Amino acid sequence: MSILTGVGAHQGRVAVVTGAASGIGRATVERLVAEGACVVAVDRAQSLSWAESNARIAICPGDVTDEACNANAVQSATERFGRLDTLVCNAGIAMSGDLLSMPMSQFDRVMDVNVRAVVLGVRAAVPAMKAAGGGSIVVTASTSGTGGDPGMWPYNTSKAAVINLVRALALDLGIANIRVNAVCPGPTETGMTQGIQSVPAVYESLRSRIALQRWGQSHEIAAAISFLASADAGFITGVSLPVDGGMTASTGQFLPPHRQPESDPS
Ligand code: NAD
Repeated sequence: MSILTGVGAHQGRVAVVTGAASGIGRATVERLVAEGACVVAVDRAQSLSWAESNARIAICPGDVTDEACNANAVQSATERFGRLDTLVCNAGIAMSGDLLSMPMSQFDRVMDVNVRAVVLGVRAAVPAMKAAGGGSIVVTASTSGTGGDPGMWPYNTSKAAVINLVRALALDLGIANIRVNAVCPGPTETGMTQGIQSVPAVYESLRSRIALQRWGQSHEIAAAISFLASADAGFITGVSLPVDGGMTASTGQFLPPHRQPESDPS
């Protein structure tokens, strides 16, 4: 890993972040850049224009399920910024539906984006990390990978898979001084959850299950990703860190002490 040369935890380092256009990915790019890194921002969405004017961000449009997209991102890191130290596999999609009627192509797509693309990203990044003397990989998993949610079997399956992928890859890559970890966000206010945020009963029901009595914000997940990617986490590998306000601290049998939803005065 590169020697820290400045005040920021990521000073002098180069990262690839996928799913960088919005939500947790965008917050992670902003956090890593603020901590001194140069970042290759990957997303299939066209909304990376906010990053265009920053000389320490290279934009790499593409779909992470495409092997060439991952190769381009790593090439962009090494050609534009000279090395690769950090990979954040954050791009993801949520999918729910009926077990019997959901077309299997939809299940396949979730597994492609949330699991297979992580493998593609890691395969593309490891040679460059080895050339840099080591590195750090962080995958955005989910609390939905540690238990089941009604109707969300494709998403639950995919996030559980990456949690165990992280353990297995940590064992294989430790010898190359590459650490592999995951964060497991709980309900976080991003574009992905806009639909359920807009249904007050669902929003409140989730909030009431969180010990801290509020949803998470993208920058709070980004802070945990930044920590796991940094030298401060230098002896941490193979873990999945819940960043969920205490939601998964519960057995689920009882709600923690919670506020009642504000009543509608109308
Ligand atoms: P988001 O929808 O705001 O961001 C996801 C980004 O990934 C989008 O910009 C999207 O364009 C990109 N993306 C999706 N598929 C892609 C593909 N095939 N190729 C390239 N880019 C692709 O949602 P978010 O909440 O910021 O999600 C980020 C990660 O966090 C996801 O892996 C998600 O599963 C995980 N997560 C989110 C929550 C939550 O409550 N928001 C909770 C747990 C885990």
